[in-house]
Parts: sequence; C-alpha cells; structure tokens
Amino acid sequence: MDYIVEIENVSHGYSKDREQLVLDDLSLKVRRGEFLVVLGHNGSGKSTLAKLINGILVPREGSIKVNGMDTADENTIWEIRQTAGMVFQNPDNQLVATVVEEDVAFGPENQGIESSEIRRRVDESLKSVDMYEYRKNAPHMLSGGQKQRVAIAGVIAMKPDCIILDEPTAMLDPSGRREVIDIVKKLNREEGKTIIHITHYMDEAIDADRIVVMESGKIAMEGTPIEVFGDVEKIRGLGLDVPQVTELAFELVKAGLDIDPKVLRI
Ligand code: ADP
Repeated sequence: MDYIVEIENVSHGYSKDREQLVLDDLSLKVRRGEFLVVLGHNGSGKSTLAKLINGILVPREGSIKVNGMDTADENTIWEIRQTAGMVFQNPDNQLVATVVEEDVAFGPENQGIESSEIRRRVDESLKSVDMYEYRKNAPHMLSGGQKQRVAIAGVIAMKPDCIILDEPTAMLDPSGRREVIDIVKKLNREEGKTIIHITHYMDEAIDADRIVVMESGKIAMEGTPIEVFGDVEKIRGLGLDVPQVTELAFELVKAGLDIDPKVLRI
C-alpha cells in the first residue's frame, strides 16, 4: 500500500498541560490518490491536524511523514509544504496580488521557477479550476467561490501531490460551495490529487473514499460514507447529523425499496 501521509501516535497541544491535549495519540494513514474527508464538531482538533500534516506545526509526540519525509525535519519542510498544499477557510486572506494570474504565479515565483514554466503552470492551474477566463481580473471583484478557486489554483501551481482543504466552503454561499466541491472532486478523480478535505458540512462527505470523524483529538469513527453514515445513532451521539439525502436513502432501503444508498447523493 502506498501512503502519502503517515501519522503515527501523534499527540499535540497548545499548553504544556497534558490534560489539555488537542490531539491524543492519533494515528492515520492516507493513501496516495485517496479522497479523505475529516469531520468533527468545532474544537475536535481538525485544523490542528491539518497544520501538522503541512508542517506549520510540529507534533509534540509521535511522527508525521509526507511522501516519506518527516515534518519535524527542517531540511525537508519546504518540500513537504509544496507536496501537501493547504487551502484555508477565508479566500480573502489567501489572495495577495491585484490580478488573478499574478496571484497564482506567487508560489512558483517564490520557488525560483523559470518564467516560461511559471506561465505554463499559471495557465494550467487556472484551467483546472475553470478560472482561466478571469486571469486578468482583480481578485477582489470575484465571488467567494471564484476567489476560493483562485486560491486552489495558487496551490495547484506548486504541483502538490496532496491538497489539504481546511473548511474551504465555510464562508461561501450554496453556489460557491458547490463550485468549490465540484473542483475538489475533479482534482481528485481526473488529476489524481490526494485530497484531505476538512469540513463540518456533512453533505460534502458523501463522495469521499473514506471519512474520519474526530472527537476530542481522537478518531471516533472511520469508514466509507455508507459505513459511517449508516451508524446514525453514533453520528448523532458525536453531535453531528447524517446528510438528509443519506438518511432518506437508508429509510427507503429499510422500507423495502430495492435501491443502493450510493445512488442518492448531493
Ligand atoms: P477544529 O478545527 O476541529 O475546530 P482546532 O484544531 O482548531 O479544532 O482546535 C482544537 C482545540 O485547540 C480547540 O480547543 C482550540 O481552542 C484549541 N486551539 C486551536 N488553535 C490554538 C492556538 N493557536 N492556541 C491555543 N489553542 C488553540
């Protein structure tokens, strides 16, 4: 099995007090090309996990490897950040330039990449997120969903194998959410990117290969969407809700209708 991310017995906290661990002896492996969704209510440790994978934080205990490189190794940290690119919640905080294409070029420019290659990557990345026609526009004039797609293009331009998205749709309206989710799925299915998608919108997890549900810094549930959402009582016990379409599918199956729950998606 080829893993791109290997998290082994990681504990982490922001204070020295062991009682206040935010991640508690957590282990998780992410397969190359996998679409993993991380669910959990506020404060369960999802963002901390994302920052640890990307090397923004170094685990207090345990180890994290990205493409076999240890995130605690200062010599490989830049390669790790480029391998596992991060997209954050607020697109306004991620866009730095006054023109879309300059914004997308920012990362590769900092990597010291040659200008013709930067040009190629910028065009290709903007096409990947269906924003090529906006390349000369000012980012602040775009909708929330469009801005987030430009932020994703900025990450893609760095040629990451894995993209970690930390609640990328939390600040978007329903159509913006849909735009971003469609692009994320496409990057996984058509371009083979490993996706680690953190969200508290349950319906965004329906198409995942695997769901991990976090609670108090530990993995409380793990499995395919059907396995995880099939345990409605446990999901509710964790303060979360099963997506309505999934609940409906299960009810229909229980009522004797011969359908595969997988067909009822967002
Ligand atoms: P989630 O993404 O699931 O909401 P976080 O990883 O952001 O969870 O937070 C987990 C816990 O860590 C919360 O109790 C939060 O208050 C705390 N925390 C997060 N970031 C910091 C920080 N920079 N300093 C101190 N505490 C933090």
